[in-house]
Amino acid sequence: MSVDLDRRVRGVGTKFKLYAQSPTLAAFQKPETVWVSSPKGSLRAGPEDHRMYVVDAVDKPHYKNTDVLPYRGARRAKAEPGPDGHFDHLTPEDRTFWSAHCFGAVRRVLDIWEDYLGTKVPWHFEPYYKRLEIIPWVDWKNAQFGWGFMEAGYGLDDKGDKRPFCLNFDVLAHETGHSLVFSIVGFPNRPEALTAEYRGFHESASDLVALISALHFESFADHILAQTKGNLYLKSALNRIGELSRTRQIRSAANPMKMHQVADTQRPHTDLTGKELHTLAQPLTGAFFDILVDIYQEKLIEYGALSPELADRSSRSEAADLDSPEINAAYAKAYEDAPYTFREALAEARDILGIRLAQTWHLLSPAHLTYGKVARAFLTVDRRLSGRRYQDMIIANFHWRQIGFQFSVRGLSKPPSNKEQH
Ligand SMILES: [Zn+2]
Repeated sequence: MSVDLDRRVRGVGTKFKLYAQSPTLAAFQKPETVWVSSPKGSLRAGPEDHRMYVVDAVDKPHYKNTDVLPYRGARRAKAEPGPDGHFDHLTPEDRTFWSAHCFGAVRRVLDIWEDYLGTKVPWHFEPYYKRLEIIPWVDWKNAQFGWGFMEAGYGLDDKGDKRPFCLNFDVLAHETGHSLVFSIVGFPNRPEALTAEYRGFHESASDLVALISALHFESFADHILAQTKGNLYLKSALNRIGELSRTRQIRSAANPMKMHQVADTQRPHTDLTGKELHTLAQPLTGAFFDILVDIYQEKLIEYGALSPELADRSSRSEAADLDSPEINAAYAKAYEDAPYTFREALAEARDILGIRLAQTWHLLSPAHLTYGKVARAFLTVDRRLSGRRYQDMIIANFHWRQIGFQFSVRGLSKPPSNKEQH
């Protein structure tokens, strides 16, 4: 899927230089050249086109609910295209690189997900604003996607230095993920129909958009495989989304959280703190991460690169000891024997999950949304695409997280499974 996307845009699209991960990480300090689908020569200085424009605003406070677009204050220089219409001539030393990096990252994420969806995704705010306004820098310890705009502040690294989010692909992809969910799933039109799980789902979907989009960088996928020797349950770059440094992480995809460990979903969503909301997203994100790993393992078995016994022992829902030295050694041997097969299996699993997630969003109604409804829609989409092949595995993963089906999450004092390992 995405290999085909890259082939289609190469030569006819526009080149940008993007960091695959935060440049504070040693392995990702050099930005990579990436093609996006904007036709060559179609982007003006800014960059801008008919869908988005970047404004490097001077001393702009972050937007509040009452602010009206567009920004009309002072601005720094626009990022200029090269003579051939590309933006990959800009270097990180040039301030206009920040603007180009934001635009390129958002466009790249849209390309990937519009490809999965098979259609263009209009902005959810289009009746009011025709184009998305992107502000690459506000002096604010956060980033946000709002009604007609996206703006990036900073995170603090371990030394307390400000690291601009406009250079952090995960953060930009996460915010773009919110816009995809707003456009495709929508927003409940009555306050009483807005559930805590809708908000948790939003965060989870945005994290998954960031994860799956980052996996389109070959350097990122290769780095993870090399670091983990193919065992994706090992703590690695893949487990950290929105990371600021090697030791700090905002969210974790490969997490062991179950529903009884997070905020009661019957509570009014307005009572949940930001931290509780991000924690509420974790069982759902974790279920999809485990599904990704299980599909990847199935692909490895199919290609003869992994034994079914080893795959069984390293599946979370099968009560595996995920970090056992014996499993790691067996994985390392299998990976060293066939590294390219592992890369291919990961790319296939990424696209299998991405297509199913995108189509699941189409089936969901935002009103009274629950994780159980998300799980059922995902199963329906998967069944349409590949029959029963992955159904039992998917159900086992949702069960393990206590999502949907027969589980009554409220008042659950201990896990319902005796396969508990974490
Ligand atoms: Zn978010």
